[in-house]
Amino acid sequence: MTYLLTRDHDELRALVRELAEEKIAPRAAQIDQSAEFPWDLKELLAQQDLLGTCFPEQHGGTALDTISQSILVEELARADATTSLIPIVQKLGALPILIAGTDEQKARYSPRLASGEWLVAFALTEAAAGSDVASNRMSAVRDGDDYVLNGSKRFITHGSVANLLTVFALTDPAAGGRKGMSAFVVETDTPGFAAPRVEHKMGIRGSPTAELTFDDVRVPAANRLGNEGEGFKIAMATLDRSRLSIAAQAVGIAQGATDAALAYTAERRQFGERVVDFQGVQWMLADMASQTEAARQLTYAAAARVDAGASDMPYWTSSAKLVAGDIAMRVTTDAVQLLGGYGYISEYPVERMMRDAKITQLYEGTQQIQRMIIARQLLERAGVQKRPPHAGSTNARQ
Ligand SMILES: Cc1cc2nc3c(=O)[nH]c(=O)nc-3n(C[C@H](O)[C@H](O)[C@H](O)COP(=O)(O)OP(=O)(O)OC[C@H]3O[C@@H](n4cnc5c(N)ncnc54)[C@H](O)[C@@H]3O)c2cc1C
Repeated sequence: MTYLLTRDHDELRALVRELAEEKIAPRAAQIDQSAEFPWDLKELLAQQDLLGTCFPEQHGGTALDTISQSILVEELARADATTSLIPIVQKLGALPILIAGTDEQKARYSPRLASGEWLVAFALTEAAAGSDVASNRMSAVRDGDDYVLNGSKRFITHGSVANLLTVFALTDPAAGGRKGMSAFVVETDTPGFAAPRVEHKMGIRGSPTAELTFDDVRVPAANRLGNEGEGFKIAMATLDRSRLSIAAQAVGIAQGATDAALAYTAERRQFGERVVDFQGVQWMLADMASQTEAARQLTYAAAARVDAGASDMPYWTSSAKLVAGDIAMRVTTDAVQLLGGYGYISEYPVERMMRDAKITQLYEGTQQIQRMIIARQLLERAGVQKRPPHAGSTNARQ
């Protein structure tokens, strides 16, 4: 399968880069320091019609292809990883509706999400159920025309600022998480819902990561996505697609760090020469640039497979996330090295980028979980017999 970048892709990149350099990059250090959600930049992205790229046109979206969506995230993350999470999570939270919602559910929620009037969050993780998604405990008990939700969620991006949540809860605890989990849309003004705590974090500090509690939250049965018991399947189908946004975020962070390191070393002088003139420095820059480019091209190749609905799409999106996340970590660490002591202080952006890069190796499935997904498909493809399942190999977010 091949892919080609078009003039539309170039134009989108130029537009977002200009916006990011003018309006977002100058805010990045302050967002990081204050750890406050950048409402002004959410408004800016909404005004520019950049929050509706994954929604169909009939529901107010712009229905861009997945390479375009990757370019958008990449260019925002090059300036500020926190801001890039605004479209990333708008898509992550909406995907369960787009994948499993009825026409009525899509029509009810998509326009407000596509326009950015409402924010949405994806609430899957629980305190004791991270990689092992199927060990979720939150319950949803049917009561007449409603479900009553009880339990809590942990680490939910935008959970404290969202108007809407896609939530996963057990409707049949006896059947376990794989078969007994269902997906729901919950409006956050529903009585019994609260976001009592926001985490203090190493990076992406302006993006609130919230604990959510559900105390007899009554949700109409019309808000269930798909059939009872399809929650696990819907969550996995969502993550198979959405983790590509994290690959694009990692590429953007790596590109931002490479650009910052190049600009700094071209100015800084030691031993009577520009630092960039030392061959050891040039080789580091060459590695950073070529590795970032490799991650970018893998991300676009995976994006083309998402749009084609290819059966091996999870193999590609996990590979892109794995490779891009590791490269972002390596490249940002090298960028700090190239700025010397100045790389370690907050006057320059690379220490922030290094802290931001780390999360790309952790969320939407850790790097270990990506390797499990890739290996499983590799073995299947090669016809290698599966061994009997054991705890930790059956339930992981895949
Ligand atoms: C900032 C942030 C934002 C997040 N946003 C969201 C969100 O919006 N929505 C949401 O639902 N979740 C979100 N998460 C949760 C995130 O996806 C989980 O933290 C992640 O999946 C890992 O789960 P865990 O933290 O419980 O780690 P654990 O699952 O406890 O893993 C601990 C370690 O064990 C390793 N491990 C686990 N199982 C295996 C295995 N079978 N083989 C090898 N190694 C293994 C892991 O890779 C890891 O290194 C977010 C997390 C963070 C930190």
